[in-house]
Amino acid sequence: MTGTSELKHFPQLSWEEAAKSTSPAIRSALERVLEMQDGACLTDEEQLGLARSSSADLVALLVAADTLRRDVVGNIVTYVVNRNINFTNVCFVGCKFCAFSRGPREGDAYFHSLEDMARKTKEARELGATEVCIQGGLPRDLPPFYYRDILRAVKDAVPDIHVHAFSPMEIVYGVELTSMPLRDYLCMLRDNGLDTLPGTAAEILDDEVRQILSRNKLSVADWRDVIRTAHQVGIRSTCTLMYGHMETPDHWVRQLSMFRKIQSETGGFTEFVPLGFVHQNTLLFQQGLARSGPTLEEHLKIHALARILLAGSISNIQVSWVKLNRGLSQLCLHAGANDYGGTLMEENISREAGATAGQYTSPGDFQSLILEIGRIPAERNTKYSRLQIKLPGEWAKGSELFPGEDARLSIGYAEFA
Ligand code: SF4
Repeated sequence: MTGTSELKHFPQLSWEEAAKSTSPAIRSALERVLEMQDGACLTDEEQLGLARSSSADLVALLVAADTLRRDVVGNIVTYVVNRNINFTNVCFVGCKFCAFSRGPREGDAYFHSLEDMARKTKEARELGATEVCIQGGLPRDLPPFYYRDILRAVKDAVPDIHVHAFSPMEIVYGVELTSMPLRDYLCMLRDNGLDTLPGTAAEILDDEVRQILSRNKLSVADWRDVIRTAHQVGIRSTCTLMYGHMETPDHWVRQLSMFRKIQSETGGFTEFVPLGFVHQNTLLFQQGLARSGPTLEEHLKIHALARILLAGSISNIQVSWVKLNRGLSQLCLHAGANDYGGTLMEENISREAGATAGQYTSPGDFQSLILEIGRIPAERNTKYSRLQIKLPGEWAKGSELFPGEDARLSIGYAEFA
C-alpha cells in the first residue's frame, strides 16, 4: 500500500526509481507512452488498467505523468488573469451536486444587470484581466436574447477583453429560448463577441450517471453536439470532468477517450480541467448518493491519467485551485498538470459548495506557488497563443534555480510564441 506521506514524496523520484516496484503490465504501458508521447498507443484494456491501478502502482503513474509533462510542455506553469462573473444564481435545473443555485424568491437570489456586467468587466481590465469568464444559473424567464445582450454589454465596455462564456447547458437553453438552430445561434454569439466556451456542464458524460446527478441537464449527445458545433464555427473550448462523487475510474477513461476523439476531429480543445467534487453543502452527498469528495489518491490519479491518456491530443492539463488547497494544487502540478487556470477575482460556485481555497489568487500568489515547486510562471492568454514569463524581482536573478534558463531569467519578463 502507498501511504499518504509516501504519496507526498513522489515528486522526488525518478522514473527509474518509481518503475522498480511497479507491476509488469502497468510498467510496460507507461514505458510505451513515455517513448511514444502519445496516449493513443495504449489499448482500451491498458487505459482501464491504469485508471484502476492499485495504490502500489500509483506512484509510477504519477512519476510517468510528470516525466511526460516535462517532455511535452516543459517546466513552465501558466495562469490567466481573469475575472469570474456569475451573473445570476437563480436556476431551475436543480443539479444535486450544486450548492450555488437559488429559487427566484430566496433571500440571497441575485441577478446582475447588464450595466453591472459592464462595470465588472471594466474593473477587471483595470486590474489587468485579459479575460472575463461568464456563467450563471438558468432563470426561467430569461429574455430570449439575453446571452447575446451580455456579450454586447461586455464588449462595449472593453472591446478587446476575451469573453470565455456560457456552458453548453446555457447554449442549449439559449437555443430553446430563441428557437434558432444550434449552429446559427453559436454563430450569432460569436459575431457578438463570444470568443471561447467553458466545457463545463460535462460532469460525467454518461447518461445513467447524469440521471442521478442532474436529470434536467443536457444529455451526453447534446453536450457533444454543442462542443463540436462550437469548434466547427471557430469557438474553441475547454473540456472538464467532475470526479470524486459516484463515478468510477472507468467513467474517467471513457470521458477522456471521448475528448480525444472530438479533439482529433476539431482540434478545438484548449485544455482539460479535472474538477474535484466539493461535497459539503450538496444534496447529492446529503442524500447519501455520493462519497465525500475525492481522496488524495483520486486527486493525483485523475491529473496523471489525463496527462497520459491525452498525450498527443490535449497538451494542457489544468489544476482547479478553487477546489484544491495550496499544497494539493502544487502536488497535482507534479502529477502531470501544467496550468493553474485563472485568478478568478470572485469565485462563487465552489465556495457555496464548501470549498475554502478562496475567491481570488493574485498573479503574485500564482508566481510564488509556481516558483516554490521549482517551475517557471508565465501568464497566458485564454488560447495559450501568448505566454509571458513573470518573475518577481528577487527571483529574476536566480539562475541556479533553473539552469539553462538564464537568458530568459535575466530579463525577468519575456514574451514568446
Ligand atoms: S450546476 Fe448550473 S445548471 Fe445545475 S443547478 Fe447549479 S447553476 Fe443550475
